[in-house]
Amino acid sequence: MSVLQLEGVTTHYRTLRGWVRAAENVSFEVGKGEALGLVGESGCGKTTVALSILKILPAGAKIRKGRILFDGTDLVPLNDSEMRKVRWKGVSIVFQGAMNAMNPVFKVGDQIIEAIKLHEPDVTKADAYKRTEALLEMVGVDASRVNNYPHEFSGGMRQRALIAMALACNPKLLIADEPGTALDVIVQSQVLQLMKSLKEKLGLSMVMISHDLSIVAEVCEKIAIMYAGSIVEYGDVESVFKEPLHPYTQGLLGAFPSIKGEKKKLISIPGQPPDLLHPPTGCRFHPRCPYAMEVCKKEVPVLQKQGSGEHTVACYLY
Ligand code: SF4
Repeated sequence: MSVLQLEGVTTHYRTLRGWVRAAENVSFEVGKGEALGLVGESGCGKTTVALSILKILPAGAKIRKGRILFDGTDLVPLNDSEMRKVRWKGVSIVFQGAMNAMNPVFKVGDQIIEAIKLHEPDVTKADAYKRTEALLEMVGVDASRVNNYPHEFSGGMRQRALIAMALACNPKLLIADEPGTALDVIVQSQVLQLMKSLKEKLGLSMVMISHDLSIVAEVCEKIAIMYAGSIVEYGDVESVFKEPLHPYTQGLLGAFPSIKGEKKKLISIPGQPPDLLHPPTGCRFHPRCPYAMEVCKKEVPVLQKQGSGEHTVACYLY
């Protein structure tokens, strides 16, 4: 059984100018010990999907349709006190921007201990302290740093401490929102290796949000490509990388340099992502697509299976 299954999740934000259609009909599945990469340009709805799963959307946002099944239970109808039992212990998140995610006036260890005590009130302070030391060691930070303040940590250490905090209550599913952002490439690679080893060691399921395809290729087994609020291509990492079908996926891959392959001129995708207050009709990618046909402007393409396995694409070319 899947740990997480999204079925047609549609989340909109109410604004003074109308509804912003940030996530439209999003469906995917994450199995036990499996990692799914959610990839797309900034503003395509990746973070909205993450916030919808945890139901920590900002005021004015609403899940208008769909089901979010975690361990078989639909989270959409749950109220806040029921959701509190799911957050941290069931699903946990590492937020974007390690620099700002910790409270600067509290010691790193105390912030992790507080998370443990809040969700597991029966744990004694001494046990929570021991668990915090073990968590820091597990993510590669010396346990002696438990009494340091966030400003005494480097960027990479802060990111590791955030991962430790997210794992404090042994969640089944970890959502990592742009885990490599603001880190230099070497530290980024170390953090990704850490996430990969934690996934294997703890049997963790993961949703990794990124605009960087190489990050996803490194850690994930499955990939979902998002454009303007919808998933346009979905499948296992190998088949999507080897045979990208959607023109947007082809554009994304063409815009990334290959370290090992021959040197090629990088091609950017022309145009801008659409305004989700008034998204284009039909296929939302049609104003930027070099293959757009008449039907693309009128009808919304749905994800259709291509070839063997789980590879699906939403495009009238297939
Ligand atoms: Fe391009 Fe049409 Fe395919 Fe959309 S459906 S990606 S516009 S060919």
